[in-house]
Amino acid sequence: MSQHGEVWVYAEVDDGAIAGVSLELLGKGRELAGILGVPLAAVILGSGTRPLAEQLIAYGADIVYSADDERLAQYTTLPFSRVLTDLIREKKPEIVLYGATPVGRDLAPRVASALKTGLTADCTDLQIGSYESAGRLYQKKLLQIRPAWGGNIIATIVSPDVLPEMATVREGVMHAPDPVEGRTGTIIDVPVVLDSECDFVRVIERHTQPRRVDLRSASIIVAGGYGMGSKENFQLVHELAAVLGGAVGASRAAVDAGFIHADHQVGQTGTTVRPKLYIACGISGAVQHRAGMEESAKIIAINTDPEAPIFQVAHYGIIGDVRDVIPRLIKAFKGKL
Ligand SMILES: Cc1cc2nc3c(=O)[nH]c(=O)nc-3n(C[C@H](O)[C@H](O)[C@H](O)COP(=O)(O)OP(=O)(O)OC[C@H]3O[C@@H](n4cnc5c(N)ncnc54)[C@H](O)[C@@H]3O)c2cc1C
Repeated sequence: MSQHGEVWVYAEVDDGAIAGVSLELLGKGRELAGILGVPLAAVILGSGTRPLAEQLIAYGADIVYSADDERLAQYTTLPFSRVLTDLIREKKPEIVLYGATPVGRDLAPRVASALKTGLTADCTDLQIGSYESAGRLYQKKLLQIRPAWGGNIIATIVSPDVLPEMATVREGVMHAPDPVEGRTGTIIDVPVVLDSECDFVRVIERHTQPRRVDLRSASIIVAGGYGMGSKENFQLVHELAAVLGGAVGASRAAVDAGFIHADHQVGQTGTTVRPKLYIACGISGAVQHRAGMEESAKIIAINTDPEAPIFQVAHYGIIGDVRDVIPRLIKAFKGKL
């Protein structure tokens, strides 16, 4: 039997469905649990969540801890952190992972401070490895990997002396596994014990604003950078994306210059994407931009500067002016598609 505790994924419920990032974490969690030789568990808090608990098993959870109670129908900080903290105290998992969503970013620090344990925010990778400090070797620790110092270094962070090891993970950086129909697991009902201290906040109404652009699910992204030169020229990026049936992305410099809305930004402080095809137009390929797109299956870069760092990650490079190259691509694709 393993000397380690379980690996847990906090399964966030978003509009009655399991959040995509939680499914991605189940994929990573499966890998980590396999290395530690422990079960993978998901924790779901909400109301009427039984069908979702079953879905979590299909996506790889061996155990689902399910706190199903109408007082948990809407996310509020205190009740959710209380139930989760009590459960962690009782079951003593080794690792707890959360999506770096608004909910995960609210919940995880509360739980970490209540348990006096560490938390690494916005990880882009997680591994199991050893760590040495003051002559002591820590084995099979969670290596929490994320960009630091403005994205100029990739830091590996370890919480060697405290459990559970906890991290929030950026959306879109891990692969969600395919569900396996008929997969079996155990659903454990978690009693919900809340006192008056948890009753400060009530959700009276909920307003949601849909995302302007869904970059994460786009299989083709045409992204424009500062090298597009103007908002008018940026129209070429929209046109090429329309011809290819793709979505429009942008670098931060293009957003800052007012060429396009910030919802389209790809990168460390924007969205992380991994489409089948990413066409970078007039984008230099700064490390903060590459952090959000370098996992794309095929990358085409168009840039006047042959030394631009984007060519280091591009599969195909076109050295040329976007104002010449993009209209030619539009014409060529219009003729073919
Ligand atoms: C903490 C932090 C977070 C950040 N987060 C992000 C992020 O999430 N996403 C992001 O994108 N950036 C981010 N940045 C900014 C990043 O460092 C770069 O400044 C930014 O990505 C540069 O955008 P760009 O490549 O469009 O512009 P530039 O670096 O100015 O590059 C423009 C490129 O266009 C080329 N070019 C010029 N004219 C033409 C032409 N006519 N035809 C073809 N090519 C041409 C140039 O050769 C150049 O390579 C962040 C920075 C920091 C410090």
